[in-house]
Amino acid sequence: MTTALAWPFVYDSTFASELGELAVPWAPAPVSDPRLLVLNEALALELGLDPDFLRSPEGVAVLAGNAVPEGSTPVAQAYAGHQFGGYSPRLGDGRALLLGEVVDGQGRRRDVALKGSGRTPFARGGDGRAAVGPMLREMLIGEAMHALGIPTTRALAVVATGEQVARETLLPGAVLTRVAASHLRVGTFQYAAASGDTALVARLIDHAARRHHPEVVDSPVPALGLLEAVVAAQASLVAQWMLVGFVHGVMNTDNTTISGETIDYGPCAFIDAYDPAAVFSSIDHGGRYAFGNQPAVMAWNLARLAETLLPLIDDDIDTAVEAATGVLRGFGDRLGAVHEPGMRAKLGLDTGAERPGDPELAGDLLGLMHREGTDFTGTFRDLAQAARGDTEQIRARLAGVAEIDSWLARWRERIGPDGEAVASAMDTVNPQYIPRNHLVEEALTAATAGDLGPVEELLRVVSDPFVARPGRERFALPAPAGSGRYVTYCGT
Ligand code: AMP
Ligand code: MG
Repeated sequence: MTTALAWPFVYDSTFASELGELAVPWAPAPVSDPRLLVLNEALALELGLDPDFLRSPEGVAVLAGNAVPEGSTPVAQAYAGHQFGGYSPRLGDGRALLLGEVVDGQGRRRDVALKGSGRTPFARGGDGRAAVGPMLREMLIGEAMHALGIPTTRALAVVATGEQVARETLLPGAVLTRVAASHLRVGTFQYAAASGDTALVARLIDHAARRHHPEVVDSPVPALGLLEAVVAAQASLVAQWMLVGFVHGVMNTDNTTISGETIDYGPCAFIDAYDPAAVFSSIDHGGRYAFGNQPAVMAWNLARLAETLLPLIDDDIDTAVEAATGVLRGFGDRLGAVHEPGMRAKLGLDTGAERPGDPELAGDLLGLMHREGTDFTGTFRDLAQAARGDTEQIRARLAGVAEIDSWLARWRERIGPDGEAVASAMDTVNPQYIPRNHLVEEALTAATAGDLGPVEELLRVVSDPFVARPGRERFALPAPAGSGRYVTYCGT
């Protein structure tokens, strides 16, 4: 059984106390032999937690779900969601529990939750557990996103359970501790709205607004204000994904946050060869969640959020729909307002406003990269070298592309004479290191076999993505030729 532990870990639980209808109190299922695999010390310190304590047997017991911190009433959160476009009225935390909320050193309220902590009333057919590989993957990709400056949930720790989980084969089990601005999702609103209890939706709006978008609380129509704030946050998020080549892979409405953080690192991957049609998930046959489709899918998900808010936007449905539609229509412009300057910065054109010809310059390079299957991340670093006067690498990268010389000439003309300054600025936005799929796979395979060295090394590399460092050359290389298509999986 789980024991209560005196530990200043969870200070509060406004979600459970304000929105009890959406929270089912539930205890984690203890595991036989918990062992700390990776602790995120920087995040622990940010939260005001003592890393040494987290490494102690008492700390590991909490991170494994074998002890519950005093003052915490863990809950499974209820939510619904559209998965690949099909609506499920009841998903919820099938294998996760919200321990509570911590106020960090900067006064920000953060959720602390366990993932893989046993079956809950929402588990349906699932075993409530998670495997070491996918949980370390969530930590790796989340830390990479964080280091790239992209809003994301983060892993505080991954603990091995000492038990096995049955997937296609038997795998070592793990529990991940996830830290998030909150776990409120579009699916949380869908669940509340489907209950027919408008007062509950109103309370959820107020809770979400206070937590994430406080400027909305006193706006004339908070439901509309919240929609606008979430549209803005998610437009910005997806624009940032597009700028680093991130494919989320399972953009269901239950995996779309109200905070605007990236959540749920299941079948995600970074593209290597630039291709808007890139899909990695084994089940995404139609390419619904393909790289280039992400803006459209997010707009669709936000429309599902808007539907839940309509009764609180206006009593007259036509008026409500018109107001919500007006806000949703702003999504594209908001995305462009982040993506277009972001793309100019990637290209070294970050000299204030867009100039005539800039979109064509970007579009033409992407077109060449697409046609040639060129490595997205590497090309932008090569381009910075070209700004420094060394075009050898980019010409080698795009070998055989007759148009590259004329493109480079146009681009040189545009960036002007101070190539060194342009290149330095480019290197602060174009990562040298991303969690490349073949490296992630290699590291997780080693970890699953008991060797954490490669995961620790990759974590260090992707946590410091912008400065090229000696000895890390192989981390910047694309997958070896002939590696085959990379495939990722849900339900891990
Ligand atoms: P995901 O694909 O991770 O977003 O999960 C979708 C839904 O399936 C959520 O309700 C999860 O809680 C649930 N789920 C996924 N894996 C498991 C599992 N092993 N046991 C119980 N529930 C699960
Ligand atoms: Mg999910």
